Amino acid sequence: MKLQPSKKLIYLDNAATTPLEPLVLKSMIPYLATQFGNPSSLHKQGINARSALEESREIIAKVLNCGNREVVFTAGGTEAINLAWLGICPPPYQGGVRGGSTPHAITTTIEHHAVLACAEEFERQGGKATYLDTDSEGFVTVEQVLKAVKSNTRLISIMYANNEIGTIQDIAKIGRAVAQLNVERLKKKLPAIIFHTDAAQAAGSLDLNIHKLNVDLLTATASKFYGPKQVGFLYKRTGINLHPIVFGGGQEAGLRSGTENVAGAVGMATALELAYKDLDKNNKKITELRNYFIQKVLNEFKSAKLNGPTGDSRLPNNINFTFPGIEGETLVLYLDSFNIAASTGSACSTVETNPSHVLRAIGLSEDNAKSSVRFSLSKSTTKTEIDYTLKALKHIFTII
Ligand SMILES: *Cc1c(COP(=O)(O)O)cnc(C)c1O
Repeated sequence: MKLQPSKKLIYLDNAATTPLEPLVLKSMIPYLATQFGNPSSLHKQGINARSALEESREIIAKVLNCGNREVVFTAGGTEAINLAWLGICPPPYQGGVRGGSTPHAITTTIEHHAVLACAEEFERQGGKATYLDTDSEGFVTVEQVLKAVKSNTRLISIMYANNEIGTIQDIAKIGRAVAQLNVERLKKKLPAIIFHTDAAQAAGSLDLNIHKLNVDLLTATASKFYGPKQVGFLYKRTGINLHPIVFGGGQEAGLRSGTENVAGAVGMATALELAYKDLDKNNKKITELRNYFIQKVLNEFKSAKLNGPTGDSRLPNNINFTFPGIEGETLVLYLDSFNIAASTGSACSTVETNPSHVLRAIGLSEDNAKSSVRFSLSKSTTKTEIDYTLKALKHIFTII
């Protein structure tokens, strides 16, 4: 039996990045073409660019239920995370407190490399970090977080939803506990702990209302919600002081210097607004397809195992399987030959040959971690595409 490759690309790697939505591209074009002004200029071109930038900020602030000034534009998710982590306790040469009073931060073992690498840099600059272990589905508990707090803890950084196994943390519950703890700390004259969440995978799928989430800092990137790449934002609660990591003309209230990416900000705002307009409808559809795919694979491939949780505490679009005995990378390449795009986990780890740190952290053996594949769906994924993917998987297993 021979199976023809799909004529159309079946893109199941939306956790790595999403395609640019046509309406988003359309909203950006004027600011790449005729409306090219610098928002800091005094003439009409500048004023137009400024108002487009500020309207975009307002649209994003509405989704987050926060003030406009609490939204800081950055060049993507990684940069926003760097600003959160390294801006909280600047090193001594920036007037910060290192050495004598070592700042302490708490995070988890399953964070994205953008967070883990910041934690390492934070430690190199004199801080100390605690990495919380998760359970076998990727969850941390409020009790674990509170137990790790020390008098010198300054930052808690826990991802909203995991990019590899789709685990959705109870950020609201952790946020409430941290806020309560801060009341006690204030009485003892201890510095307040700042709570950050990396919402890169959550933005566009889950509730971003910062009042419900009880977060001080939240970071996201447009490239994961059908917007352009290298555009993101940091939500920063009023009153939280951050030190910049990029210096220059003082744009973004001094937090992110450099001429603003107006077209990018406009695209991001359009994308976010679109995502939240049809959120429930899209999530319902994607979740049904996800569950269908998971059931089929578990029924038809007896040795396959699902990684991560099931039900509502899993991202609607995330699927991650271990197929013992087969290298994940081999499977991804075979799928590609059928015009199906999947992934072995996080896109950023393609440069490293180590098995996924997330799968290892939830207890998979090195071999099983290497034998895992992630399928991440989008709002335009169809049942026909999933059925073809199942067919291709079956076919591949007969030939390898
Ligand atoms: C994609 C992603 C990032 C990094 O965002 P970039 O825009 O690629 O810098 C950070 N955290 C998570 C969970 C992600 O999925």
